[in-house]
Amino acid sequence: MSPTKRCWDCETVKPIEEFANDPSKKDGKHGRCRECDRVWRREWRKEHPNETRLRGRANRAKSKRTIAGFAAACWKRLNQRTVDGAHPRPENKHIRVYLDQGIQLQITREQLTDAITAWWPKIRAMWAAGQTPSIDRIDSTRHYSPDNIQFIPLSENCRKSGLKSGRARAILEKNEATDRMYERIRHLEGDRYLTKSELAAFLGVSLRTIDRRVADGTLPPPILLGQVRRWRQSVVIAKLERHKSL
Ligand SMILES: [Zn+2]
Repeated sequence: MSPTKRCWDCETVKPIEEFANDPSKKDGKHGRCRECDRVWRREWRKEHPNETRLRGRANRAKSKRTIAGFAAACWKRLNQRTVDGAHPRPENKHIRVYLDQGIQLQITREQLTDAITAWWPKIRAMWAAGQTPSIDRIDSTRHYSPDNIQFIPLSENCRKSGLKSGRARAILEKNEATDRMYERIRHLEGDRYLTKSELAAFLGVSLRTIDRRVADGTLPPPILLGQVRRWRQSVVIAKLERHKSL
């Protein structure tokens, strides 16, 4: 007979394959069956919209800071502002400036990715310095081609193209808002995600006390990261501080 296990939520005895792996458990399997776990996660996301939104945003922002992600963003922009691009947008007055000049797309997606790969250390340095890298034509009377592109900070790009101050200010303000968001994400990344035993050690209590305090609401419930549960240290501290002041 193949092994089975009783789910602690629906209390049904199911084949062991119906349970996800969980190395922190004695039998290496999650206590909740996959089906109940899906429901539990959905409920958690509903009850923690801010956490969910922030995590989604952080993941999306992170994905834009890879070569593939950055290339995709540049490629989209180039196709909007070139007359032979896949989706020119003349309805946007800032993009129309390029289209009116008849700027053409003389670079393939592969060539763009190659250029970004070659520039990658410099592009990353711009982000590290709090700048936003942007694609620029070296000779602004020529088209977007492999030998006519470079990557410079957006603020410099604004100055170079002599953007009217209002537009430049809008871009720079948006930039600053993005930087603040990254600052928040960096802060989150610096935060620690504790396992149950790390949390118990951090608070100097037993594992069972953690369960009890989560159940009575003194401690926050853990965050589910894939199949492992973690407590964000800053959230635990904030919750305990609030509790103490009651
Ligand atoms: Zn179940």
